[in-house]
Amino acid sequence: MRQRLDGIRRWLSRQWAVFKPWALRQLKLSGKWIAHIWKIYTNRDNRWLTVPCTAAALLVLLVIVKSSQGIAYNFTRECKVYKLGYPIEDARTLVTVLNDAQADSLIARQEYDTIAIPVIKARYFITDNFDRYLAFHKADTTGIALDHIIALVNIGADRDRETSAVPCDTTKGQLMLVNGRHYLDEHYKPHKLATFDKNYCYESQKAQRSVVDAFMTMQKACKKETGAQLMINSAYRSYNDQIGTYKRSKKGYAATAGHSEHQTGYAIDVTSRQHPMRWPFDKSEEGVWMREHCHEYGFILRYPKKQSQIFGFAYEPWHLRYVGIDVAKRSHGEDITFDEYYADDIDNNSPHAKTLN
Ligand SMILES: [Zn+2]
Repeated sequence: MRQRLDGIRRWLSRQWAVFKPWALRQLKLSGKWIAHIWKIYTNRDNRWLTVPCTAAALLVLLVIVKSSQGIAYNFTRECKVYKLGYPIEDARTLVTVLNDAQADSLIARQEYDTIAIPVIKARYFITDNFDRYLAFHKADTTGIALDHIIALVNIGADRDRETSAVPCDTTKGQLMLVNGRHYLDEHYKPHKLATFDKNYCYESQKAQRSVVDAFMTMQKACKKETGAQLMINSAYRSYNDQIGTYKRSKKGYAATAGHSEHQTGYAIDVTSRQHPMRWPFDKSEEGVWMREHCHEYGFILRYPKKQSQIFGFAYEPWHLRYVGIDVAKRSHGEDITFDEYYADDIDNNSPHAKTLN
């Protein structure tokens, strides 16, 4: 090994011995040439040469800079995305919106994705979810609309419920999210619960103070408009209560313990004295009134009909969730579920979040 290294070293020094005088000669020669050109350039008699020579030198410099920029551009993410088939504007938008890792994985896939651009332009697009939107679209064979793909991914419907469930962030108060993926443990209980006036429920019911107050204001307005009296069917339910509710319920209409909003104290099931059964209440004048006006009192219809087709939650026209007037109005105005609102405004630091807090 050592002999071999010595051999290489000897060979290198022989080459250097030949190369060194040649390099020095070239250096001297070019020095001479530069000196010669400089002499002509600065000679008073050759003053007419100043302008064309300077222009020529600048031109050469510009060509060198431009061509090196062109070569460097080939190595940029923008160029690599462009080469996948995206128009240049779209390539630029993609690399601006996506983070480096996402752009790299888009490039690595070496294929043009038809929904990449519509996805990033969608209203509820969340950068972190980019790869998941594309994967969901690819796996879908039923032609789900893009907006629905965005909504489904944002609420985590593309993830396995069992393995991706996370504890509910109870610090969010009236905006805490409880659903199939976000759960409360058996010990969670609201700090203080207020009791509903017994004239408005069939058996004693409790909820958060803000919910009781908002319900009373809403039912007063409802009575004035429709003549009917809204009634609380069910409000706060503890973890253990929910175990019983789940066992008794029709499949799809009750959540498993820990996954029910009723445990937060912010959810109420409402019907009316005139229509105490849930489905006739849905069609009744007061039922329709409540769906159209509950947002004015800070409530949202948590499982609306339209969304049940996308998310697969059962339609529950009687189940209201208190989220406060600002959020309820936005959710109603934009026709989005609370899960979507949460993904867009609370989980994600989107600009929307700042407008409401
Ligand atoms: Zn309910």
